[in-house]
Amino acid sequence: MNIFMVSSEAYPFSKTGGLGDIAGSFPLVLSSMKFGSSKINASLLIPLYKQNYKLISKKNIIAEFQIEYGKETIKTEIAKIKHPENDNVDIYFIKQDSMFKRNGIYSENGNDYPDNAGRFILFSKAVIKLIIHLYKEEKFKLDIVHIHDWQTALTALYIKEVYNEEKALENIKVIFTIHNLAYQGNFPTNIYPLLNISWKFFVHSRLEFYGYVSFIKAGIILSDIVTTVSPSYSLEIQREEFGCGMNNLLMDISYKLYGILNGVYDNSWNPKTDKHIKNNYDLNSIKNKMLIRNSLYKEFNFSNKNYPLVTMISRFDIQKGLDLIYQSFFELSSYNANFIFLFSKNNYLKDFEKDFIDRADRAKNIKVLFAFDESLAHRLTAGSDMYLMPSRFEPCGLNQIYSMKYGSLPIVHAVGGLKDTVINYNGNKSINKASGFSFNDYSIKSFVNTMDLAFDLYYNKKNVWDKLILNAMNKDYSLQKTVLEYVKLYKKLLVK
Ligand code: ADP
Repeated sequence: MNIFMVSSEAYPFSKTGGLGDIAGSFPLVLSSMKFGSSKINASLLIPLYKQNYKLISKKNIIAEFQIEYGKETIKTEIAKIKHPENDNVDIYFIKQDSMFKRNGIYSENGNDYPDNAGRFILFSKAVIKLIIHLYKEEKFKLDIVHIHDWQTALTALYIKEVYNEEKALENIKVIFTIHNLAYQGNFPTNIYPLLNISWKFFVHSRLEFYGYVSFIKAGIILSDIVTTVSPSYSLEIQREEFGCGMNNLLMDISYKLYGILNGVYDNSWNPKTDKHIKNNYDLNSIKNKMLIRNSLYKEFNFSNKNYPLVTMISRFDIQKGLDLIYQSFFELSSYNANFIFLFSKNNYLKDFEKDFIDRADRAKNIKVLFAFDESLAHRLTAGSDMYLMPSRFEPCGLNQIYSMKYGSLPIVHAVGGLKDTVINYNGNKSINKASGFSFNDYSIKSFVNTMDLAFDLYYNKKNVWDKLILNAMNKDYSLQKTVLEYVKLYKKLLVK
């Protein structure tokens, strides 16, 4: 069974968030699985960004296409390498220097690239060209294309309705995963000519969305199966509150909509083997966490070395509950705890960022850092005692899962994937299962009350605290489980 995983980012080649983690590790896990009695041949298709040029040379270029792009044609190459971690997985890089050889993935210095629509139109067209090329030149017949988020959603339109006469594309099943419905790829109609398709597709039942061209609609409407990254989120987005204007459409396609919980790739996120931390540990050597915490305290100049460490690693985005954090700085500063926030920058929130830093600077026990730092993210997860994730909405969320796996108890708003992963401590009856703390209504009062409870347990009921850590670390969050669920969906599609 041949499957292409198509994504705009994939770790370790490129990453800005959870999509990168999942798209990068998914094909590695998938390729170790069977489809009935046959092998699964999984490949990854991603743009070749600037930082990946060192991985390829002329000998890796396997094809060159002239791609229609409005009135122009653009030369685009395909570079193929074996995945550095696993020979069985091929990586196909879409190489177009002027589009992708840039300093950022979607943005630079916090500003989105103005030609993002065009970049991902070209990317989707190159994916189609490659599928056709491999069929003609290598008799390679693809069974499934698994696309992710708006950047790759047009692939569904090209396969199902634009190039549907092509033999190579016949019977290909398309599965579309929504990692975050808030990002839809809606663009003004002046980009439409770049699609090189008839205007007949600019209707409500296809790409039109309130006068805009919506890439995500192509994925939702034309894919055979649509998934979201947690069961709760798949239900929430069918309601107005979380539907980002698409709730009715999602309700209409609910017969093909599934929620599958994301998992953790053990080779990347495991306290026992994590390459970013010096003092690796598991449940039996959990004392090592203290060493990691101590070295963070030294690095960040905290004076109270005995306080617990509370962390948050996130995009600086309102989605992540930043208003709750900001408005509870006074309470945070009064806890006997140290806080480290690691945020990736967001130019749309420049003023808020300044305010946020100003407030944090007034508290001795709060440090805020703006950077995208993979290594520090791992060290903070390993060194911390508690993890904050009070998101307004959360399609799945990976950091709360990483933190539980690393023995740091999450404090979360019970929504989406947070609700599906963190089992709330609510007294003795929950002691055998609870793996963190959650609150239902999105308010400062609930957030602070939940933190009060967590600190009370940490300082006054050590045995309960330790039991929660045991529960959290013993849980199985493996990506294997996730991928197995997807394999069931692939089967459903292929046996039809
Ligand atoms: P989202 O995809 O909404 O950003 P997730 O929780 O699904 O959120 O995944 C976030 C991923 O990005 C995690 O691997 C997290 O560690 C990483 N990440 C987020 N912000 C940063 C940052 N500032 N530095 C390093 N890694 C980050």
